[in-house]
Amino acid sequence: MRVWVGIDDTDSSKGMCTTYLAVLAMERIEEEVGKVIGFPRLVRLNPTIPYKTRGNGAVSFLAEVEDLGELVDVVNEIILEHAMLDDVNTNPGAVFVDEELAVKLKPFADKVIKDVVTLDEALFIIGKHLIPHIKYKKGRGLIGALASVGAELNDFTLELIAYRYPERFGTEREYDKESFFDMDFELYPETFDNVDWCNDVVVCVPGTPCPVLYGIRGENVNALHRAASIVRTEPAEKRMIFITNHATDMHLIDADNLERIENYRSYRITGRVVDEPYDIEGGHVFFEIETKFGNLKCAAFEPTKQFRNIVRLLKPGDVVEVYGSMKKDTINLEKLKVVEIAEIYVEKNPICPSCGRRMESAGKNQGFRCRKCKTKAREKVRERVERSIEPGFYEVPPAARRHLSKPLVRMDVEGRHIFR
Ligand code: ZN
Repeated sequence: MRVWVGIDDTDSSKGMCTTYLAVLAMERIEEEVGKVIGFPRLVRLNPTIPYKTRGNGAVSFLAEVEDLGELVDVVNEIILEHAMLDDVNTNPGAVFVDEELAVKLKPFADKVIKDVVTLDEALFIIGKHLIPHIKYKKGRGLIGALASVGAELNDFTLELIAYRYPERFGTEREYDKESFFDMDFELYPETFDNVDWCNDVVVCVPGTPCPVLYGIRGENVNALHRAASIVRTEPAEKRMIFITNHATDMHLIDADNLERIENYRSYRITGRVVDEPYDIEGGHVFFEIETKFGNLKCAAFEPTKQFRNIVRLLKPGDVVEVYGSMKKDTINLEKLKVVEIAEIYVEKNPICPSCGRRMESAGKNQGFRCRKCKTKAREKVRERVERSIEPGFYEVPPAARRHLSKPLVRMDVEGRHIFR
């Protein structure tokens, strides 16, 4: 029989990674009870929910086995051996879903990626379809485990994850920074969001104590293998390619057809800039837009770096589409489309027709005059302000990109201002 195995919430901020644990499970399944078909899937869930796991990614893979009980035993052993069960916030769950049934979980998966879902809703699905499962402690991982199995990845990208030797877990990673830029230079955009040139950061090497050495994002298997051959690092113990919903914008809800918007969801919303953008301490930039839901605050936080310079150029009257998650009634910007640039005028003293210099006031209610040429004018003139922003799409730099955010290089749209 062919069964989708879904696993989630096995890691903590102190270590482990559900992708690594899944790879260990896949290895033991192949050694002992059957085989694994195709690539595993790494599905990122709603990035904004308050009780998410680190990175909020769940893993699933398709196994072919004779005996379901043996499969469950192997996954159970691996979770008991490797999950961070001592951490109060780690509540693993695993599900075993018949291949035929998996497609029926799509609506649930969609909801877990875009919306807020309770454990009871997951347990209801499990009960309704009698899905074999294992839960540990609170079992919150069941939500992501089910979603990872049910998610339909029409758009997807790949990630090649290399894992460290266990004796190195928790130590500083050894790698040659330049080699990652070399890789990007050769392969971009077949690989993408792995380095950030302007901020001089290797984005694909984590700094956490988890087993991951690096995770290179790309569009196809060949580019990823080539990438892995270019980067120079400490030895990797294992490598695995995951099919993911990274860089797909799958978390975004189009707000055009909604009646209301809520915190902990992510949206694309159109609006008109109300006031001048302003900075607050810490380098965060805010502005307000007028939308069909009322006025809405938007934020470009300090880590979005150069993107803030674009935001600061907005003026009242500009029409924009904002992309991002809503938290504390504020949209945290991931992307911005400038739809329409407002024409801004200022009143200035007129220019002397003879010498071309700006006239001076001739006294209260006396109009204007050029002192040198003696020319006169009655009124101030309206002059259009040169705007230094143009319509099109703008994005945060790779160093600030969220897993699910679609970089412009993957978008087939006009007016892309790509940040590489
Ligand atoms: Zn003059």
